[in-house]
Amino acid sequence: MKPTNITTPPRLRGMTIAEIEELIVPAGFEKYRAAQLFQWLQRRGARSLQEMKNIPAALQRWLEANAELGGIATVATMKRSADGSYKFLFELDDGRKIESVLMPDPVRNYWTLCVSSQVGCAVDCKFCVTGLNGFFRQLRVDEIVDQILFSRRQLLTDQPEANFRNLVYMGMGEPLLNPDAVIKSIRILTHKDGVDLSPRRVTVSTSGIVPGMIQLAEAGTGVCLALSLNAPSQAEREIVMPITRKYPLNDVLNVCRKYQFGKHKRITFEYVLLHGINDREEHAHRLRKLVRGIPCKINLIPFNPNSALPFERPDREAVEQFSRILTEDHLTVSVRWSKALDVDGACGQLAGQFRQRRGAVAAAPPENSAAAAVAEMPPDLDFFSPTETDSEEE
Ligand code: SAH
Ligand code: SF4
Repeated sequence: MKPTNITTPPRLRGMTIAEIEELIVPAGFEKYRAAQLFQWLQRRGARSLQEMKNIPAALQRWLEANAELGGIATVATMKRSADGSYKFLFELDDGRKIESVLMPDPVRNYWTLCVSSQVGCAVDCKFCVTGLNGFFRQLRVDEIVDQILFSRRQLLTDQPEANFRNLVYMGMGEPLLNPDAVIKSIRILTHKDGVDLSPRRVTVSTSGIVPGMIQLAEAGTGVCLALSLNAPSQAEREIVMPITRKYPLNDVLNVCRKYQFGKHKRITFEYVLLHGINDREEHAHRLRKLVRGIPCKINLIPFNPNSALPFERPDREAVEQFSRILTEDHLTVSVRWSKALDVDGACGQLAGQFRQRRGAVAAAPPENSAAAAVAEMPPDLDFFSPTETDSEEE
C-alpha cells in the first residue's frame, strides 16, 4: 500500500506519529515504532538514526533507504551576544540561509526562541529588511521544527539546567502565508511525546493575513496571536504596510474580535515606532481608540535602524510619552528594546550586517559550546527580522 499524505522523500522531523505509522507499518514494521522514532527525534533531539538504540537495525536500514531525517543541513555560524542571546545562521539543503535567535529572560529565568517561517518575505512592509529583500521560498515543516530542535540541543549542551520555554514565529517570513507548515510544526512541537511546548507559550506573529488568521484560529492549536499593527488607521497603515490594501484593517481587527487565539483570547498588538511617521501623540490617541473593546496588550517596538531603510528610531522620551497615553486608557503596554543588537539579531538587522560586512562579535561563548568558533557572516546572506519575545505569561 502506498502511504498517503506524505511528501517525497518522507522527512521524519516534519512528521507526526500518525504519519510515521503510515510510512512504516505497510513496510512490515510495528506500529509502536513510530512513537519511538518521534520521541528520539523530537524529545531527545537525535541527529542520526544510529543514535536510536532501541530501534531495530532492520528499521534503521529501511529508513536510510526510504526516508530522510530532514531539517536544516548545517549551521553556518553561531554567535553569542553580550546579553547572552544566541544567533544561529542555518544553511538549508538548497544552500539558502535562515536564522533563529534564542534569547534569555534573566529575571524570569527562561529562554525564548524566535524562528523563521519562510526564506524571505513577500509582504513588503516598508520598515523591514526582510521585506526589502523579497521572497525566496516556503520553509518545510521539518525545517521549521529543526530550528527548535537544534537550538534547544545547543542550549542544553551549554547550560543543562536552562529552561527552553517560549517560541515565537517572529523571524524571517510571514507565518500565515505558510499556514499549513506552521500549523503542523505547532502540532509537532506541542506534542507531549516531543518538545512538549505549552501552546500558550507559543506566539505566531502576522502582518494581518486574514485567511491565514482564520485558518490558525480554526486549527484550535491554542497558540497566541501577535498582530503587527504598526499604524492607527487604514490610510496610514497602507503606507507602511501595503498588504493593508488587500486585507483591510477593519477585516483584520474583526478576525481578532471574532476568533479565539490563546487561552485568554488576548491578542498582542505590535507597533513599530517610526520617528515622525507613526509615533506622535495623535497616533497614540487614535491607536487606543482603534483597539478599544479588543482584549489585548500592546507591544511598542522602537524601530531598529538600518542604512537601507529611510526611517529613524524615536528617542526614549517620545516612546515613553506614547506608552503613557496608551496606559491612561488602562491598556497593558510593554516596550521592546531589541536584544542581540550586537550580533545583529534584532528585527531587520541581519541584512544590514550583510551589507556592511562587519566582523563577527562573539561575546564570551561558553567553553563547551560545540559551535563556539564564530566566523564572519558569509557574503551571500540575504534576509531577516527576528525580535524578542512576548508570549503569554503564566
Ligand atoms: N511577518 C510577521 C513576523 C515576522 S516580523 C509579522 O510581520 O508580524 C516580526 C516583527 O518585527 C513584526 O512585528 C515587525 O513589524 C517587526 N519589525 C520588522 N522590521 C523591523 C524593524 N526594522 N524594527 C523594528 N521592528 C521590526
Ligand atoms: Fe514580512 Fe513581517 Fe517583514 Fe512585513 S514585517 S515584510 S510581514 S517579515
